[in-house]
Amino acid sequence: MSLRSAGHAPQSDLDLSEGAFLDGRITALEGAESVPVTSPRDGSTLGSIDSAGPEHVDQAVAIARRAFESSGWAQATAANRGIVLKKWADLVAQNARDLAVTISLEMGKPLMDAQNVEVAAVERCLRWYGELCDKVTHSLLANEGSAFAYSFEAPAGVVAAVVPWNFPLTMLTWKIAPALAVGNSVVVKPSEQTPFSALKLAALAVEAGLPNGVLGVINGRGPVTGQALGRHGDVDVLTFTGSPATGRAFLKYSAESNGKRVWPELGGKSATIILPGADVKAAASSAAWAAFYNQGQMCSASARLIVLEEDADEAVAAACEVAATMQPGDPLEEATVFGAIASAASVAAIEAKVADALAQGASLMAGSPDRTVVQGLESGSYFAPVVLDHVDPASRIGREEVFGPVLSVIRVSSEEEAIEVANGTRYGLAAAVWSNDISTIHRVTRSLRAGVIWVNCYEEGDMRFPFGGVKESGFGRDKGADALKKYTDTTSVWMNLDV
Ligand code: NAD
Repeated sequence: MSLRSAGHAPQSDLDLSEGAFLDGRITALEGAESVPVTSPRDGSTLGSIDSAGPEHVDQAVAIARRAFESSGWAQATAANRGIVLKKWADLVAQNARDLAVTISLEMGKPLMDAQNVEVAAVERCLRWYGELCDKVTHSLLANEGSAFAYSFEAPAGVVAAVVPWNFPLTMLTWKIAPALAVGNSVVVKPSEQTPFSALKLAALAVEAGLPNGVLGVINGRGPVTGQALGRHGDVDVLTFTGSPATGRAFLKYSAESNGKRVWPELGGKSATIILPGADVKAAASSAAWAAFYNQGQMCSASARLIVLEEDADEAVAAACEVAATMQPGDPLEEATVFGAIASAASVAAIEAKVADALAQGASLMAGSPDRTVVQGLESGSYFAPVVLDHVDPASRIGREEVFGPVLSVIRVSSEEEAIEVANGTRYGLAAAVWSNDISTIHRVTRSLRAGVIWVNCYEEGDMRFPFGGVKESGFGRDKGADALKKYTDTTSVWMNLDV
């Protein structure tokens, strides 16, 4: 379908495909339920998707299996796979605007973030794994007497990737780039909220030279399409990013089907800790930005700011200043730094969590417990940044993920208490420590239970920097060279030369 997007300058016509991407082309799914997709920008219907049922999932997995066995991708040299991934990165760069507008309309992030952060990250990720392809060597295990032994990493086969909407293409590419780099075929199920950008990215892969069938995209509802992939007997690896509840569902699907490998990257309730002597204003501003960026819809959001009582007033003031600069606006306007929340349901969930926090004794220092109305976009989903002070670490807002722009300030009286509070949730995704003392930094970072720790910064890193959590934030790491091994099986060969 073709859609004229609200007469806005960035885009005149946007092509949104309703079908699935199978065997190298957009294909209508016969008998599939049609599900409308609503843009949170203005509440309008963007288009609709063919929601894949189990029979369509069977079809997608069969195509991927056939491609794995006979398309030549798994059998290609690593260097040739790298050439395709790098070409794909080039095409992403050339189509950055179209991809960014699609993402922005689907889930409401500011167009400039979609283009300069998200799509740029996708391009970097594809290029990085493309360059890595032929740098990977295998292992010589024994070469003595009559023995010669080695091991090599074989592609696992068919990988299914189920991903969320907050960084729809970045999360997707963190999974599929390493999986494809080592020769797998992949079936992707994007979030129901962000189906179109994934179809566009897949089409560019084929243009780059990826053989038909190696990458498929099927859209649909999580409990139907996602579950069918999770339970599929011919899927070898299921890689997932999303909520803890869904992550656990995938572990269950695996246990109840073929015992496939599951890689869950889940939620978080990450903390910034300001220690004595740190620049309180810089630290609190960083924490606030990291709590509100992407409208707070970040698994690694700095949702808690843990600060000593004597520094707390200065920290709260700095956080409120940041909140004032990040007010909701039209995601398609280039000047907008804070866009729409992904859906009306998400706004309602955030409102309920803020109301609950206030009922449990938190003080509202910035923002409002109610949704924001953006002029001209009255039917859109908007919610301005909230700063809460005097949050009880044991309260729901102190422990549970909001997945919205809410910063909870927790006042403590010592470094030990700060660490105890930081570790006091079921999550363990990220943390930040602000201090100028190297011994303190080492002591505190060793005491934190988090997969990613930033010191005197937040959200820094590059493709070498593994990302993922501990505890109920999941296991396994995206990014980095080790991610390749999530999608391979080690084959060990011991030879007797004495024959
Ligand atoms: P979600 O778990 O609701 O959905 C994620 C994906 O799973 C979607 O494609 C959805 O359709 C599918 N799904 C939902 N229910 C399912 C079911 N019962 N069976 C099979 N599939 C199902 O998560 P979301 O709301 O899209 O994303 C927000 C969550 O993702 C937050 O908890 C956030 O912290 C987490 N997240 C984690 C990371 C990370 O790297 N750790 C990154 C981004 C987001």
